[in-house]
Amino acid sequence: MQKKYLLAPGPTPVPPDALLAMAMPIIHHRAPDFLPVLDSAKKGLQWLYQTKNDVLILCSTGTGGMVGSVNNFLNPGDDVLVVNGGKFGERWTKICQAYGMKVTELVVEWGHAVKPEQVEEALKKNAKIKAVFVQYTETSTGVNHDIKTLAGIVKKTDALFVVDAISALVAHDIRTDEWGVDVMIGGSQKGIMLPPGLAFVSVSDKAWKMADTAKTPKFYFNFKKERENLSKNQTTWTSPVSLIIGLNAAIKMLQDEGLENVFKRHDRLARATRAAAAALSLPLYPKENPSLSLTAIEAPAGVDGQAIYKDLRVKYGITGAGGQDKLKGKIFRIAHLGYADTFDVITAVAGIEMVLKGLGHPVKLGTGVAAAQEILMK
Ligand SMILES: *Cc1c(COP(=O)(O)O)cnc(C)c1O
Repeated sequence: MQKKYLLAPGPTPVPPDALLAMAMPIIHHRAPDFLPVLDSAKKGLQWLYQTKNDVLILCSTGTGGMVGSVNNFLNPGDDVLVVNGGKFGERWTKICQAYGMKVTELVVEWGHAVKPEQVEEALKKNAKIKAVFVQYTETSTGVNHDIKTLAGIVKKTDALFVVDAISALVAHDIRTDEWGVDVMIGGSQKGIMLPPGLAFVSVSDKAWKMADTAKTPKFYFNFKKERENLSKNQTTWTSPVSLIIGLNAAIKMLQDEGLENVFKRHDRLARATRAAAAALSLPLYPKENPSLSLTAIEAPAGVDGQAIYKDLRVKYGITGAGGQDKLKGKIFRIAHLGYADTFDVITAVAGIEMVLKGLGHPVKLGTGVAAAQEILMK
């Protein structure tokens, strides 16, 4: 037997409270017993999103929420601005192009965050831009874009500000309303501690106004219909009842902990992971704004990043993530997101040390663990 540890930036481990809740017998999504379940989920999501806006609940992975956030607010041929700083930024471009939008890409060097001035300039240069698409955490590089500052810039224009916060939610204090994020997407299998299968999308009044004139074809993800149904504690299609019951259990855990403590926990875990990497002389891949959800670490010279990822998984049962695309072999990634605590970091760091030593890299065992422990004890 080998005990497994899931430390990937999605899917993430699901806590027992949520697992047990999801084992309840299926109830019918149009029967009265489901209404309070959805009502509670809806309110819980508004709490988590720090918003008074509607937060739609969709049965899809996070990408479904991204797709809906393109075709519900725009018309084919509309000018849009995409911040592309990695694989997920690239996904915004592909989705927008699939629906016929005219994409201007702000290509950001991987490992860096977009400079807010660049967004400001791009918006000034083209007043026809109808929406700005960006990630909170670009999971492929482990970098955060400065959403608070960007929101302030986009708010001054007529453009919609759409944020993929799928891997950032729960780990970061995201002030949807205070900052003015129009559309923000979340997913169940990241910080929200559930299996894959739900996407969440908050929608501001500014966005709903655009939805009124958006003619892009849509069927499954029809946000106006979802809003109408949500007001009756329903979803348009068959509700993923078990996942929504699990969502209530997961949100209750976060509420019991308190939002501020949830953010503090993620900050502590991220700092401990980074300190361990530094103690092991492993450079962080992000050159700025490292995410609190995951840590992307460069493989040392002469060591294949994919071998680190693979040995962690095969030899020690620790599933992290490797690098994507051009980062394959160059980095490996460890998440500390959602149902994560002190000994998840210790496990990851101890595993990394053992794997590196096994691969012939000079490591004094315990160096990274000790550095992490110092921070985790504070
Ligand atoms: C995980 C993730 C997604 C969603 O991917 P799905 O496979 O559709 O769940 C989107 N954006 C970011 C930044 C992510 O980390």
